[in-house]
Amino acid sequence: MMSLVVDRFSLARTDGVELLAPLSLSLDSGDRLGLVGESGSGKSLLVQGLFGVLPQGVRSTGGTITAFGVSMERTSKSRDSIRGRRMAWVPQDPQQALNPFLKARDHLALLPRIHRGESTATALHRLMPLLERLRLPTDQAFLNKYPHELSGGQRQRLLLAQALSCDPDLLVLDEPTTALDPTVQADFMALMLELQANRGLGYLWISHDLGVVASVTTRLMVLYGGEVMEAGPTDRLLREPRHPYTQRLLQAAKKEPSHESGFLLGPLERPAGCPFQPRCPKVQPSCASWKPWQGRMEDGLRCEAVFHD
Ligand code: SF4
Repeated sequence: MMSLVVDRFSLARTDGVELLAPLSLSLDSGDRLGLVGESGSGKSLLVQGLFGVLPQGVRSTGGTITAFGVSMERTSKSRDSIRGRRMAWVPQDPQQALNPFLKARDHLALLPRIHRGESTATALHRLMPLLERLRLPTDQAFLNKYPHELSGGQRQRLLLAQALSCDPDLLVLDEPTTALDPTVQADFMALMLELQANRGLGYLWISHDLGVVASVTTRLMVLYGGEVMEAGPTDRLLREPRHPYTQRLLQAAKKEPSHESGFLLGPLERPAGCPFQPRCPKVQPSCASWKPWQGRMEDGLRCEAVFHD
């Protein structure tokens, strides 16, 4: 049984505007899966859906999310036994994700108290090797600091330590390196690869940057305008990107010039058919009747100019 199974999960605004077309993926311990797409493509909404914390005004319109055999729907009581314990989340913005009124020690002890019934002292004692591994200080002066007293890199590592505090099987990382400078970013990526290799951690790494996500994953899924464009093994997508949008992402990662212009349109302004039409150098009349790909993780894509799934 796969640890995490997303089966044709879709999202819409409560007024009916579609935000995420049916999407399917699976993730197991030790897997390194990447989800790449620009801001507004639906990546972060999917993460919120995975953890059952959709923002107001957004609702699930179909499909299922199951983690370790437990439904992650809002109405499922059992999901609390999974979230933070077997599947944890490293949110996008440490500044917002950390509670400004809690010290580092309280952030670290939070999940162990809920899921393991551990006292703060017991949890901190158990987590010392993890903090050292994450190259975080372990002294009282650090543990007594509030988030605003930490560097950006320390805040990100504190969030990661919190996510790892109950030794989860899966991690979902939402743009985890955006707030980090290049040196700290490279260090964070090396650390994740180490944790995956040594602890068998599986992760879903979400980013707008194909260059970042490609170097830490073995499978990739490319999202645009709430639709899956292309998916497959990372090395194939890098070697032979078939979809025009994947090609564009690769150009951007290599900092090559592009003739494509424009931005991802909001959900109300998107054309019928393929959402990439306004920016696509290969657009053709049949693209207006393009049908969403159901987006399973097998090697494939959906594009009128290349071939269908
Ligand atoms: S060729 Fe058509 S279907 Fe393919 S990416 Fe361009 S607009 Fe979309």
